[in-house]
Amino acid sequence: MLNKLFNKLEGYYEEMVSIRRYLHQHPELSFQEYETAKFIQSYYEKINIEVKGNVGGNGVVAKIYGKKSGKTVALRADFDALPIQDEKNVPYKSLVPGVMHACGHDGHTATLLVLAKALNELSEELEGTYVFIHQHAEEYAPGGAAPMIEDGCLEGVDVIFGTHLWSSEPTGTIQYRTGPIMAAADRFEIEIQGQGGHGAQPHKTKDAIVTASQLVLNLQQIVSRKVNPVEAAVVTVASFTAENAFNVIADKAKLVGTVRTFNEGIRQLIEEEIERIIHGTCYSANSTYKYDFVRGYPAVINHERETEFLISCAKDVSEVKTIEETEPQMGGEDFAYYLQKVPGTFFYTGAKPVRDDDGYPHHHPKFDIDEKAMLIAAKTLGTAAIRIHKE
Ligand code: MN
Repeated sequence: MLNKLFNKLEGYYEEMVSIRRYLHQHPELSFQEYETAKFIQSYYEKINIEVKGNVGGNGVVAKIYGKKSGKTVALRADFDALPIQDEKNVPYKSLVPGVMHACGHDGHTATLLVLAKALNELSEELEGTYVFIHQHAEEYAPGGAAPMIEDGCLEGVDVIFGTHLWSSEPTGTIQYRTGPIMAAADRFEIEIQGQGGHGAQPHKTKDAIVTASQLVLNLQQIVSRKVNPVEAAVVTVASFTAENAFNVIADKAKLVGTVRTFNEGIRQLIEEEIERIIHGTCYSANSTYKYDFVRGYPAVINHERETEFLISCAKDVSEVKTIEETEPQMGGEDFAYYLQKVPGTFFYTGAKPVRDDDGYPHHHPKFDIDEKAMLIAAKTLGTAAIRIHKE
């Protein structure tokens, strides 16, 4: 059975590449992926697979049914792109100025479409039900996963698997982790209201730049002094705005940043500690503030059994040369929401391009993937989807 699937996937490899390159040339931003959603939906319609569009927004969900009874397994691929100018010099470079598939979601989509087609051709021999979740808007919180779940994409689903093509690891690598693999990614905004005035008369002002500068430093105490040192957390101030003429003392200053955590308790602690520090800093400066903490995606927490199972599946894919545990990392992913509802695991499929330079990281204007990794991702996900019924 697996051999039949692998042969089909190999036969469709060129198609996978051409789908990926087409999508790469036609990227769409999060929540605006109308054409990509249509492309996905019509792919399924053409091969007579049951498909539903507009699931929780631009999401698309397809289903195939095996002849024998079994579990319902969901596989997920995201399909949005990023506001980045494509600076690669390749024939499949983005045709949309300022928009680019700089995270490999084009590859995820091509992988899942072709895997669905191959599985569908084997449906006579399949057990259970296969749900293909094509998710819009992964890159931009609140994301597409939560509304798709709300709209029923996980109904009846027993288990879910998803992968991310990973450009930092060589092709042939599968990286897994039980428990937290990606962080909760939250955003904060702080506006300091001081009192502006003449640059030569500081005593008549409340300098918002001085206050905000103290605040930037004071916020560094949270991770170093408030968070248990064996826990991981990040507090980053990413933007500091207070523009004035050279002889004006700032009336206002604005700080924007991100908080990354794995543990819900720590997440809450940081949200509160930020406010306490703003409060204290502004009190001493006799200034006021506005504070917004916007929760993004929760941490991606992989389930142990499904992760162990996935490892055993990766071992059956001959192109997989290295299966290794990965460190948790502080990036965010809304795959987290699926794992809050059903057991499953999210893993990385190495996709480092083979060339002279060292490749480029995700979200870089020259980001690219080794397309052969798509075949490995399809085989690994396909193996999991077929073998899960025996578990
Ligand atoms: Mn991504």
